[in-house]
Amino acid sequence: MEWLVGMAIAGGLVALIAVNKGRSGLAWFFYGAFLFPIAFVHACVMGRDTTPKTVAEAEAATARREAAEREASRRPCPKCAELILPAAAVCPQCRSELPAGWADSRHALSPLPDPAP
Ligand SMILES: [Zn+2]
Repeated sequence: MEWLVGMAIAGGLVALIAVNKGRSGLAWFFYGAFLFPIAFVHACVMGRDTTPKTVAEAEAATARREAAEREASRRPCPKCAELILPAAAVCPQCRSELPAGWADSRHALSPLPDPAP
């Protein structure tokens, strides 16, 4: 009968570690109860489960990724060098109108005018 208590303690320990890493407690309880040495090492070395659990979490992750991509695609305004979206037709900072395809040019920043002699 003592072996049953030992299995429960072993399963509980492994389940505790697994739940803290975002895994199923019940599945890891049985894994730990029957294969304690393997399950214990496995639970200790495995990483945190980062897959979204709900539709809302998945949508939030997608929104964060899209916002980061939008931020990364910003180009400096040719007039004031403020970082703006490449699709902008008017700079929101300096209000200057931007020529079509301004963000495609390799030299987005226009050279400074020569100082007056
Ligand atoms: Zn500007």
